[in-house]
Amino acid sequence: MKLLEERILREGQVRPGNVLKVDCFLNHQLDVELLDAIGAEFHRIFGGDGINKIVTIEASGIAIACMTARHFGVPVVFAKKAKSKNIDGDVYTSVVHSFTYGRDYDITLSKKFLSPADRVLIVDDFLANGKAMKGLLDVCRQAGAQVAGIGICIEKGFQPGGDELRRAGYKVASLAIVDHMDDDSLTFRQQD
Ligand code: 5GP
Repeated sequence: MKLLEERILREGQVRPGNVLKVDCFLNHQLDVELLDAIGAEFHRIFGGDGINKIVTIEASGIAIACMTARHFGVPVVFAKKAKSKNIDGDVYTSVVHSFTYGRDYDITLSKKFLSPADRVLIVDDFLANGKAMKGLLDVCRQAGAQVAGIGICIEKGFQPGGDELRRAGYKVASLAIVDHMDDDSLTFRQQD
């Protein structure tokens, strides 16, 4: 998606540890027009796939999911980064290893909001090693929900998450795939 690639080139900052900072428009300050265009693009790609729910993970996924859901006319449900244990057994839980913080955390999603009746599109801001996505897929599997697709804003193509998910048979659409980045340059994978 040209608009997103241009924005990354203009305002993205490469930080130590292979972290791309995009807090000017995606992770802290939010460019709502850009997010709306991202939602429209996900709808163009997945609009015919019978999706009835958008699933994501807090915090950065929520804005993307909401703008996407507007185009689909369906609800959003987001996994929470859990602070308490699942005492009542009323939530699905999974463990995720955080790329940015280097530690494990639990995610939870209420059993009320995901079931075998659901056919979901999972969206997130970044795809790197795929750990966050594996946690979300695990939650969908526990719920018996079908995963119709995975929509990512920025995939770091030099990390294995995206290609592993494609090999596993998921329909993955990443609007920008960064193939290489360092302090001086950043290049994208050509996509049709
Ligand atoms: P993964 O689980 O695929 O390794 O990493 C994806 C998650 O880590 C995303 O939800 C995102 O929040 C965070 N993340 C991974 N790489 C980056 C990055 O380069 N920049 C930012 N801002 N977040 C990242």
